[in-house]
Amino acid sequence: MDTPTRKVESLDLFVNATQQFERALTWVDGIKEGIIDFLINPKRTVHVRFPVHMDDGTTRTFHGFRVLHSDVRGPGKGGIRYHPDVTEAEVSALAAFMTWKTAVVDIPYGGGKGGVICDPKNLSRRELRHITRCFVAELGDLIGPHTDIPAPDVYTNAQTMAWIYDTFDRMHPGGNNLAVVTGKPLEIGGSLGRDEATARGSWYATEQMLRRGAVPGINTLTGARVAVQGYGNAGSVAARLFHDAGAVVVAVSDSRGGTASDAGLDPRAVLEHKQNTGSVIGFPGASQITNEDVLAYDCDVLIPAALECQITTANAGNVKARLIVEDANGPTTAVADEVLAKRGVIVLPDILANAGGVVVSYFEWVQNLENQQWSLEKVQTMLNDKMCRAVDETVDRFDALQDHYSKGVNKGKPGPTLRDAALVSAITRIATVVLQRDIWP
Ligand code: NAD
Repeated sequence: MDTPTRKVESLDLFVNATQQFERALTWVDGIKEGIIDFLINPKRTVHVRFPVHMDDGTTRTFHGFRVLHSDVRGPGKGGIRYHPDVTEAEVSALAAFMTWKTAVVDIPYGGGKGGVICDPKNLSRRELRHITRCFVAELGDLIGPHTDIPAPDVYTNAQTMAWIYDTFDRMHPGGNNLAVVTGKPLEIGGSLGRDEATARGSWYATEQMLRRGAVPGINTLTGARVAVQGYGNAGSVAARLFHDAGAVVVAVSDSRGGTASDAGLDPRAVLEHKQNTGSVIGFPGASQITNEDVLAYDCDVLIPAALECQITTANAGNVKARLIVEDANGPTTAVADEVLAKRGVIVLPDILANAGGVVVSYFEWVQNLENQQWSLEKVQTMLNDKMCRAVDETVDRFDALQDHYSKGVNKGKPGPTLRDAALVSAITRIATVVLQRDIWP
């Protein structure tokens, strides 16, 4: 894949990932020129195609990918996404985010991601099971407990992970294969707390940001107005946790549109409404708004928790929030990021904000390898510890970059952001291990 160098806004997620990386690189000294290409691009990309008998008697061929972006710091780790618009570029970018995310929170993984081009909303449970089993069978030994470990992502869930485990286990009988995949149901090696780990991690990270005084104008979530885009695993749980912490959830949305109330929405009731009707829209007593309206809603904290490239130069100027907590991966384009920075909007970047999911996936993997089941309290305490430490490191790194900037480093260029700081930590950690392991042979 060519590495783009121009900073023109693109809705291609890999171009955005590369632009973020190149921007952060200007703050890092001493990375050997020849290593940079290796640090940005995926180590391995596999395409598979397989036919599936559909319920209506027809047969369809499906196309899936698995990208191993990096295994420098440990096995690949990252979700599998089922979506009609999945592309190789998107999956490559999501895999790169995983490499950087696992480095930011310092867990012993690299980064990977997978996807199958399909529309789960129009597939039966049997069809989804067949797609999953065929995808895993085609990947063969490219995934494994010590090579590359999948997890849930958009439109895949614990049931999908159970099928992945079951298929891999049938292909490798007689061993403890639980650690091949995380996000499994509790009864087959899942971890307590994994289902809400992404949102909980983002809440812990936000609280630590506020404790550090890193968000001018917001000292506490009590009374803070919060808007959430996306009401799935990440978004609906974030809405509930921020609400329970004292925030007022004023607007939420899903793929069909948004719902808003300045008096505050009850996130549990909205979820029940979505479960009953298929969408958050039409929630009694609230007004109906568009997805664009949610991003521009009058609030203190905006949580994009749906898909990538949602905040662009077309709408970044309309964002009213003072803090954006990126529960989604890649929700802000690299150019929109600069618009937000100029406007003083703080962005808690995805590779830190939503890392709670992979942190508890790591805890699940450790429990599987040791045949243990940790208590929910232990999982949450350790998650809080990891998230707070990563926030502290990122804020400290940001302060250090700010100090360099004031002394003339990167003169004439935009000042550092929290995303730069998190990426500098990640790149530094990964590059250090590349040099320690040394170039093979
Ligand atoms: P999900 O499938 O549970 O939910 C996705 C939600 O987004 C749904 O409510 C859907 O209706 C909504 N949505 C889809 N298109 C939309 C649009 N155009 N506008 C508004 N809403 C839209 O997925 P999820 O697991 O919650 O993942 C959401 C985001 O969080 C993704 O970017 C994913 O990569 C990221 N993420 C998830 C996890 C995890 O553990 N689940 C971990 C890290 C990051």
